Amino acid sequence: GREWHLVSRPNGWPVPEDFALREAPVPAPGEGRVLVRNLHFSVDPYMRGRMNDVKSYVPPFQLDQPMEGGAVGEVIASNAEGIEVGDHVLHGLGWREYAEVEAGHAVKVDGSAAPLTAYLGVLGMTGLTAYAGLLETASFKEGDAVFVSGAAGAVGSQVGQIARLKGASRVIGSAGSDEKVKRLVEEYGFDAAFNYKNGPVAEQLKAAAPDGIDVYFDNVGGEHLEAAISVLNVHGRVTVCGMIAQYNATEPTPAPRNLALVIGKRLRLQGMMVRDHAALQPRFVEEVSGWLRSGELKYDETVVEGMENGVDAFLGLLRGENTGKMIVSLAR
Ligand code: NDP
Repeated sequence: GREWHLVSRPNGWPVPEDFALREAPVPAPGEGRVLVRNLHFSVDPYMRGRMNDVKSYVPPFQLDQPMEGGAVGEVIASNAEGIEVGDHVLHGLGWREYAEVEAGHAVKVDGSAAPLTAYLGVLGMTGLTAYAGLLETASFKEGDAVFVSGAAGAVGSQVGQIARLKGASRVIGSAGSDEKVKRLVEEYGFDAAFNYKNGPVAEQLKAAAPDGIDVYFDNVGGEHLEAAISVLNVHGRVTVCGMIAQYNATEPTPAPRNLALVIGKRLRLQGMMVRDHAALQPRFVEEVSGWLRSGELKYDETVVEGMENGVDAFLGLLRGENTGKMIVSLAR
């Protein structure tokens, strides 16, 4: 089977030459393990961090080894109790056609309850990030005005809609194209949205939030965070979820110049890691499934077909070519 290896560590923006698609033998599953034919795998912004050789919350990808990440596939051989051939499982060994997975690291998923891709997005890691980051980390409460950046992406589109469904007084989003901005308002029910490429974020945010905001869900950092600090109301809260604007930076990026406003406004800036919120998983799945069934929550996926296009999908994600969750599909 084919698998994507990291062959050199990117400096700044990754380039196709940093990766290689290589052939590897397909092993029989060891004791307590299963062999999975991957059907879909996830490409995510955090993977950019794993390409650097630095200590972080996840170890770096090893050179000349397959990269890792969320994937769903079909079990084609099992040497473990409780998982049968034909079962569909979610696991952490993406970026390859065949994965030999420890049974304890594979979670069975039901393809008849939801499309298998949903377990990588709206009902998966990015969905839980949105749910936990808004409801727990930001202590969202009814009546809050919420601003989310990266609002047409997997996490952001779900943050805005959950805020609306939970009774936000106003939901504002920013994204990188006029088409995405239109989708935020017309499909996802945001009250206001703007294209951050059309002018200074601070000015556009002020116009979109005349009464200020109570919660800022940060996926972007930089100019967005500074603008949000300016318009946050007293006792406002910030979920620091991601800072994608600086993932490819080669120099340290400037901090918000207005950070002293945190004092007088008694702001709370709180980082989050989705893996700390596993206890919320059952409630998250139940509530989001309900909204999906009733049609109150919508989601998009940008599906790139073909193993050979995996790296292009990842590079496209960093450039904003996705609406909703970016997925690489090997199903055909
Ligand atoms: P998205 O689906 O949002 O895809 C990334 C998007 O980022 C692109 O579509 C692009 O959209 C936008 N983007 C890229 N560069 C810039 C830039 N310079 N300025 C503004 N926007 C930019 O990805 P996810 O939903 O998976 O992730 C969103 C964020 O959440 C990321 O920062 C990620 O690292 C973080 N995250 C954090 C987790 C945690 O546990 N803390 C867990 C999961 C995700 P556009 O066209 O709008 O520019």
